[in-house]
Amino acid sequence: FRYLDNAATTPVRREVLEAMTPYLTSHFGNPSSHHSVGEHAARALADARARVAAVLGMRPSDVIFTSGATEANNLAIKGVSIAAQQRRGARHIVTTAIEHESVLASVDYLVRIHGFEASILPVDRVGRVDPDAVAAAVRADTASASIGYANNEIGTIQDVAGIAAALAGRVPLHLDAVQAAGWLPLSDTGADALSIAGHKIGAPKGIGALGIRSRIPLEPVIHGGGQERERRSGTENVAGAVGLARAVELAEADRVDAAARVSAMRDELIAGVLDRVPTARLTGDPTHRLPGTASFTFAGVGGETVLLELERRGIITSSGSACAAGSDEASHVLLALGVDADEARTAVRITLGHSAEGSVEPIVEAVEAAVTAVVSGV
Ligand code: PLP
Repeated sequence: FRYLDNAATTPVRREVLEAMTPYLTSHFGNPSSHHSVGEHAARALADARARVAAVLGMRPSDVIFTSGATEANNLAIKGVSIAAQQRRGARHIVTTAIEHESVLASVDYLVRIHGFEASILPVDRVGRVDPDAVAAAVRADTASASIGYANNEIGTIQDVAGIAAALAGRVPLHLDAVQAAGWLPLSDTGADALSIAGHKIGAPKGIGALGIRSRIPLEPVIHGGGQERERRSGTENVAGAVGLARAVELAEADRVDAAARVSAMRDELIAGVLDRVPTARLTGDPTHRLPGTASFTFAGVGGETVLLELERRGIITSSGSACAAGSDEASHVLLALGVDADEARTAVRITLGHSAEGSVEPIVEAVEAAVTAVVSGV
């Protein structure tokens, strides 16, 4: 089969697995242990931290390893907001309507439990937020702004430089950079905090990081033994951190080449589908778009049935987000774009990986055949 759901997750790269293996076997120590076995692990962890920091354009002490981006987003949003509430009475947060559930649910938690108000900003029909609207939403009691660098369902890339410039440092800017990693530069975004997830870039599930400038007060979310400089307790996932460091370096090394190669494939794929399938509509921004993401609706055609027909033809894709797959709820992202609920339920997202190459014609043919099969009920 051909796996075209790389926005959901990616296979572990061989180089990443090789880098990790010693830390799962011979060098298995606990970095907090005061003996040579522990110290070996602590050195590996420090090295991994410095390498991740370099790719994020931050200092090693700014990097907090987490269990993934859900945790990194929870920490960035709850940790910054609660610390700001304690220190300066903050009780407001800014985000957008198309964020990942881990962002929106963290914001909802602040509203329900900590008395916050949230400005959940609208986006335009292609999923872009207006940088001036982000700045205009900021109040004296705003804790932070949290914006997705690139959207996981439609691939729209935000004008993060414009947002950072409009905010002008008035509040910390957090970017969910999960989908941007490997495709877009991470080191010069102007943001104060960035979340990344290993499993989207060839490292395993269960490792991620929050890079956050140390001057920003942060209240921990997970309490315990005080690891990660008191910011995230729990024995560190040393092998995971080593794997994440290798994965971000590999992704960064071929980022520009991969983005150019895969964008060309994506454009051909989009043009082919729009040309050959009359009901197809592109969702998201035609130009400010992740290199690997082609996302469509097929008005009047059940998205889930198209996915099944595609799988019968050896093509693995998804409806938009792994969480929404299998449920018939319309995607909050597509609804925020103004797509109507029935059409939103027909969403199909095809996401190419970093190493994608070759002709996209077989994919276009499979989409055409799958939609035809669904429409004709064959
Ligand atoms: N943010 C975005 C934009 C994502 O696509 C994902 C993927 O699931 C996450 C956050 C959550 O990451 P994780 O799976 O590491 O918890």
